Order: sequence, then structure tokens, then C-alpha cells
Amino acid sequence: MRIGLDRILCDDSGLLGPGRRMELWFHGCQRNCPGCITKEHNHQPEPMLSLSVQAVYDAIQNEPEIEGITISGGEPFLQSEALLQLAALVYKRGLGIILYSGYLYEELCSSPQFREILSYLDVLIDGPYLWERDDGRAYRGSSNQRLHHLTDRYQSFYQKDRVRECRIEQQGSYLTLTGIPDAASREIWKHLKQGGNIK
Ligand code: SF4
Repeated sequence: MRIGLDRILCDDSGLLGPGRRMELWFHGCQRNCPGCITKEHNHQPEPMLSLSVQAVYDAIQNEPEIEGITISGGEPFLQSEALLQLAALVYKRGLGIILYSGYLYEELCSSPQFREILSYLDVLIDGPYLWERDDGRAYRGSSNQRLHHLTDRYQSFYQKDRVRECRIEQQGSYLTLTGIPDAASREIWKHLKQGGNIK
């Protein structure tokens, strides 16, 4: 089983959750939300990377002092079989899992396979990005998105009031964006994207 990814990077800045985390952007999404920062990737027929579940898991567990993973995209549940296999491995290793999905929690609960994936998660941030409800708060793009604690693992981390932050930087020949951008950063990202080499 392979996973189509547009990003796999390790980050310890706290922008996508506590501690040192592997950040995974699953490829593909059909929603087309205005303002989506991965729209160009979503519309590509092929992902930037196609890796076996085992290879992704090996990359995660070989990172020293890793706390967990943060999965977004794209829509992770479009690759549900690979997502299930990876989430089960990461859970059994004792690492934390935070996942962003455009589906609502209630929609995910209607599928036995999706429910099994939910059983491995610590935090689910659900719902699509709605630019008209972008209130600039941390850890989610718009106020319709809800943060569900499916375990107690990250309760204290999210209780602290934080400002929304993101980081745009050069990584080799690519520019990367980490975190959730505010309106100004979205504009900068959009402008930079027109210059190419955006990952
Ligand atoms: S659900 Fe997320 S990934 Fe999909 S189009 Fe909307 S913002 Fe982009």
C-alpha cells in the first residue's frame, strides 16, 4: 500500500502541535475551497511523492525525539486504506496523531473504516476552510472548523491561548509554508507561488 504525499517534513516549532512532529500533506482534495493553500497540489493528477506506508512509518520512527505526526492535505480520508495502516502503526508506537480533514466528525463516524481511523487519533480538526469565516485564531483556518479532543493527550497544549503563526522559508530549491497562514500570509504565499518552486 502506497501513500500519495505532497509534503513530508519534520518540524519542532509548535506550529502544528506540540513537540517534534512529522508533518504529512496527503495528496488530493475535491472541495476546491477559495483560499486553499494547497489548491495547486490538489489539482495535480500525481502527488509529489508516492511512498509505501512502511517507508513513511520508517521515516517517522527514525526521527530522534519524535512526539507525533500532524496529517493534513489535501483530504487525508481520500486515501483511507493507507491512512488506516499508517495511523495504526503510529498509534502502536505510542506517538500522537493530529489530523485535519474537510469532513465533519459526524460524517466520519458514519463509516466503520473511518471510525477505526478516528480511534487512533488524539485530535481531529474538522470541516472545510471557509475564507469568509477566517477569524485569525490559531490551529484552524476558519471558525466553522472544530477541534475535537479524541484523547486527553493534547488537552493542555490547546488550552493555552496562542496567536496564529506560520513560517515561509526556503528549503533547498523550494519555498515551504508551515503552519496556518493569516490573510496577509496567504497573500504573500499566493504572490510567491507565481514565481514557482513552491512545495
Ligand atoms: S478541504 Fe482543505 S485541502 Fe480541501 S480544498 Fe478545502 S482547504 Fe483545501
